[in-house]
Amino acid sequence: MMMAIEPDAPPEEMMMPDAFMGTPSIEGTPVASFDTTTCSTASVIALSRQIAKQVDCMMPGQLVLFEEQPNIVFSGGAVLPYMSESARTDLYAAASSQGGARTLQVNSGFRTVVQQYLLNQWFRLGRCGITAAAEPGNSNHQSGRAVDIANWQEWVSILAQYSWDHTVPGDEVHFDHTNSPDIRGADVLAFQQLWNLNAPDDQIAEDGDYGPATEERVRMAPAEGFGIGATCE
Ligand SMILES: [Zn+2]
Repeated sequence: MMMAIEPDAPPEEMMMPDAFMGTPSIEGTPVASFDTTTCSTASVIALSRQIAKQVDCMMPGQLVLFEEQPNIVFSGGAVLPYMSESARTDLYAAASSQGGARTLQVNSGFRTVVQQYLLNQWFRLGRCGITAAAEPGNSNHQSGRAVDIANWQEWVSILAQYSWDHTVPGDEVHFDHTNSPDIRGADVLAFQQLWNLNAPDDQIAEDGDYGPATEERVRMAPAEGFGIGATCE
């Protein structure tokens, strides 16, 4: 009651920086709770966006947001639209090169260690019709230079002119921008940094390596995102 009439209370906007930074917290729905309850990585998209933003903090330009355009559509809410800046420049150029004649249908972009953990779990458990899934840390969708294109047949020759290579045998929808660096492991390091910021009493090594200690924390991490998000925001 005293606070409500305190004339010297700071105006609302002066409180903003602290509120924006958040406080350390790993409260929320544990990632591992989705091992058996869903088949969509949209379940961990909020946490994944935090991890992607933290990679961008660590390595500016290596993992930037790309967006739907008149010639680019996303297939659903599980698309995590991040790639390197040079990959994005070439993707946009390829998409717009055809005028209004065709649309690039993106099934998948970046994938964080948290999303790959779930895909790998579903594969191990024989769930969700997944016939193969790389170990977390090793997926070519953690490289920052990959997209899956649903209507790949319409685009394969056009994308080739923009350094988007179609070279993974047996994975027809998959393209890699081979002129961009492969940043695999950066998302693991970003996760480790966010974990340590939010769990001061449970510190883990920040080595970019997906080992048992990191896996244990991935399982416990909050799907809704940590209390403290990306450090450069
Ligand atoms: Zn792919």
